[in-house]
Amino acid sequence: MNSSELLARNSRKYPEAEAVIGMGKRYSYRKLDSLVNQFGHALLKRGIDKGDKVVLFMPNVPEFVIAYFAIQRIGAIVVPINAKLAQPEVEYILDHSDARALIVHHLLFESVKGIHVPLLMIKTGEPESVWESFENILQEGDAAPIECTLTEDDESTILYTSGTTGRPKGVLFHYRSILTVAQMICVEMEMKPESRLLLMMPLSHSAPLHLFLMAGIVTGSSLVLTPTFTPELLLNSVEQEKTTHFFGAPVAYLLTANDPQIKQTDLSSMKWWVYGGAPLSSGEVKFVQESFQTDNLVCVYGLTEAGPSGTLLPGKEHEGKAGSIGRRAALHTEIKIVNDRGEAVQPGEVGEILLRGEGNMARYHKDEEATKKAFSGDWLLTGDLAKVDDEGYIWVVDRKKDLIISGGVNIYPKEIEEVLLSYPSIQEAAVVGVPHKEWGETVKAYFSAKEEVDMEELKAFLTENLASFKIPRLYEQVDMLPRNASGKILKQPLRDRGDK
Ligand code: AMP
Ligand code: MG
Ligand code: MG
Repeated sequence: MNSSELLARNSRKYPEAEAVIGMGKRYSYRKLDSLVNQFGHALLKRGIDKGDKVVLFMPNVPEFVIAYFAIQRIGAIVVPINAKLAQPEVEYILDHSDARALIVHHLLFESVKGIHVPLLMIKTGEPESVWESFENILQEGDAAPIECTLTEDDESTILYTSGTTGRPKGVLFHYRSILTVAQMICVEMEMKPESRLLLMMPLSHSAPLHLFLMAGIVTGSSLVLTPTFTPELLLNSVEQEKTTHFFGAPVAYLLTANDPQIKQTDLSSMKWWVYGGAPLSSGEVKFVQESFQTDNLVCVYGLTEAGPSGTLLPGKEHEGKAGSIGRRAALHTEIKIVNDRGEAVQPGEVGEILLRGEGNMARYHKDEEATKKAFSGDWLLTGDLAKVDDEGYIWVVDRKKDLIISGGVNIYPKEIEEVLLSYPSIQEAAVVGVPHKEWGETVKAYFSAKEEVDMEELKAFLTENLASFKIPRLYEQVDMLPRNASGKILKQPLRDRGDK
C-alpha cells in the first residue's frame, strides 16, 4: 500500500467530494485521481521510472498535489523544495538528489529559468525553450489507472532540511513513515471525510506535507490551498471555505490575532487550530485564544527527521503549561529524555529528547555518517534539550548544538535571547559561544535594534534579569541577523565571526 493508492481508493469511495481547492480551481476526488493518472503516464512516457528523483518547486497550488501524487504513483521519489530558494540552492539539490526531472510553477519560474542541466524540465503555463508546459502534458490524454506495486518499504520522499548549519541534508522517507504520521494526525485531530483542511504553510516542509496534505487525502477530506500566507487570506479562506483544521507557525497566529479584520470574521467552522515549530508563551496563548475565540489551540512538537511526529499539547492543557510540548508522545511514537550518562532525566534535569516510531526517517540521502550520528539504535536523537516538570510536562530548553559551555558550565542561549528581546529597542537577538582561551567558550550577543543601544543601560538591564555567568561578555549590534529560507536565524556564520 502507498499514499497514491489511497487517493485512488478515495476517488472510488467519494468520487464527487471536493479534494483540492486553490487558485480558482476545484477538483473532485475523481478528477484529481484522473489528472494524477494522466500526469503519471506522461512522466513514464518521458522515461521517468521507479526510484528516479523528481524535484518539485511549487507554492501551495493544485498542480503541486497532482504532480506529487503522480510522481509517487509511478514509483518515483518526490523531492518537494522550498519555494523561496534561489537558483544556486536549487542547483545544489538537483545535483545532490540526482534528480531526473524538475517541475516548476510559473510563479517561481524567474528563480530557476537560468538553470542549464540535462533534465526533464516542466513548467506550468506556456512552454519556453527546453521547458514543456504542465497543462499541455495533461492534455495528452491517457487517464487509464496506473497499477501500483509499491509497498511500505519503498522509498517515497526526500525533504531537504532548511540547513541552519551547513548544507541542507536530504531526509529520506519510506511510505511506512509518511502513512504512519498521516494516520497519527487523523486520529489525534479527528480528521474525517467532511473535514476541510486549510494548507497555507509551505508544502515543502514535513508538517504541512505529511500532517495535513497526506492526512487529508488518506481520510478523503477537502484541501484548501493558498500559495502564500497573509492574515487576510487566512481569515477570508476560513470564512469562505468553512474550513475545520489549520496548521501554522506561531508567528502566523500572532500576525492574524493582531489584524483588526479578525473581529469581523466568522471563524465558527474551525474545530482545530494547530501550531508548531516553536512555542507560544502563556501570554501569547491567551491572546490567540481570545482573538480566535477558541479553546482548541493545539501545540505539536516534532522535527522533519521524525516525520514530523513527536508530542502534542492539547488545547485544554495549555493553562499553566503553555510553552511546554505536552507530556505525551503522539500515536505510534515513543519519547524519552536522557542525560549524558544515557539515563532518564529526573524532574528539573536537562537531557536530550529521543523519539522512536515508524514516523522516523529511513536515513539522510547519501550521508551515512550523518545518519549514524542521528540514531542511537532505533531511537532518533533530536538534538533538542529539554526538562521535565513534576507533572511530566516536557519543556524544550534549547538545541544541543547551540549550547554554550563556558568554564565547564552549561549556558542556554535561548534564555539569554529571551531577556535581550524583552529590552524595549531590541528587535532581533542571537546568542552564541565563541572560542575563549581560558573558558573554552565565552558568550557573545548579536542583536538588531530600532536605535543605537546604550551599552551601559543594556548591561544593567541584563544584570537585573540574569545570573552573572550568563551575561554576554561580547556584543555586536548589526542591521539584520542572517536567516535561512524558512526564517530561522543562522548561528553558524555568527559563531564563525568569533570574538571579532
Ligand atoms: P524542522 O525539522 O525544521 O521541523 O525543525 C524542528 C525543530 O523545531 C525541532 O528540533 C525543535 O527544535 C523545534 N520545534 C518544533 N516544534 C516545536 C515546539 N512545539 N516547541 C518548541 N520547539 C519546537
Ligand atoms: Mg520547524
Ligand atoms: Mg532540524
